[in-house]
Amino acid sequence: MKHILVTGGTGFIGSHTVLELLNQNYRVTAIDNLSNSKLEPLKRVEKISGKRAQFRKIDLLDIKALDDLFASTNFDSVIHFAGLKAVGESVEHPLRYYKNNISGTVNLCEVMSKAGVKNIVFSSSATVYGDPEISPIIEESPLQAVNPYGRTKLTIEYILQELYHADDAWNVSLLRYFNPVGAHESGEIGEDPNGIPNNLMPYITQVAIGKLQELSIFGGDYPTHDGTAIRDYIHVCDLADGHIKALENLDNNPGVAIYNLGTGKGSSVLDVVKAFEKANKLKIPYNITTRREGDAAICYANVTKANNNLNWKTNRNLENMCRDAWNWQQKNPDGYP
Ligand code: NAD
Ligand code: UDP
Repeated sequence: MKHILVTGGTGFIGSHTVLELLNQNYRVTAIDNLSNSKLEPLKRVEKISGKRAQFRKIDLLDIKALDDLFASTNFDSVIHFAGLKAVGESVEHPLRYYKNNISGTVNLCEVMSKAGVKNIVFSSSATVYGDPEISPIIEESPLQAVNPYGRTKLTIEYILQELYHADDAWNVSLLRYFNPVGAHESGEIGEDPNGIPNNLMPYITQVAIGKLQELSIFGGDYPTHDGTAIRDYIHVCDLADGHIKALENLDNNPGVAIYNLGTGKGSSVLDVVKAFEKANKLKIPYNITTRREGDAAICYANVTKANNNLNWKTNRNLENMCRDAWNWQQKNPDGYP
């Protein structure tokens, strides 16, 4: 049985991926410093799967703790989710982001290298395409960091590629996620943002449950079919599945591989609002306001490469994403206890 280390394993995408790994009979150790998550998701994962992931509270900046972990456990591969992810916060506190995300990854890679564990799947982001001129976006599209968070993702991509160039025993999968939303269909695990959500889907679910009054739609004058901005929303369970496929593929296709993970379908903000209303039979009050600084008009993926090379495709549509996000919100009105 292969043993996978999942960094950031108690987070939103990490917890859904831990569940999928356990379902597929991997042995899993999750680490997290719990700076943006709680232990509860892993308890819920055990409840759903009937299987337990080991957990260790470890900060990636604590290289001694990482070293001890790798000295005491034989891992086959690492899926690396741990990182800070708030764009606005990264603009205000760039050093916090460079230190946590970049130094944390350097520590992880150093310790992996020392232990001879050279398989890594990394959470990158569509943010590495900056303000894309053309969608659908292919993996070879121009790259650009437009904020410190994006720069950490781009830098880590380069670091991992350079590691492979220096030592071809490394196998690296860089997964560029588009917009992960939704929750496990059980409603046991889901997205648990701190305070007022920045992202669209949790904002909508909090309006639906009455915690927030109305949705502000940022911009109604974009060059799109209804004037609102277009993104590629992907169900977090489809995304988790993509990680398992990427992990399996590390053995078949050694080297560095880069994949967009999205649905390949663009949806406007108003499309999401309408899909949410239809899926859940309720009304979302909204108001169209000014554009949010730094937002691209249109951003969606070409996912042909992941479809073909990873033998992966998404199985859930926008209505499924809306239904599952709402189910999670209703079952957990205040998030995890
Ligand atoms: P999340 O915040 O729920 O999970 C990240 C986890 O990393 C958290 O549990 C946090 O406590 C942990 N962490 C942060 N710094 C750490 C450190 N130094 N040591 C140990 N643990 C640490 O975020 P998520 O939405 O699950 O995202 C997972 C990854 O995917 C992140 O790297 C994020 O940048 C990337 N990503 C997310 C999205 C998105 O929209 N959610 C989109 C693209 C990429
Ligand atoms: N958005 C919005 N109102 C909100 C939050 C987001 O209109 O309260 C829009 C945002 O402008 C973008 C889309 O919804 O066009 C997705 O935003 P999100 O922050 O979820 O993801 P992003 O693509 O910006 O990373």
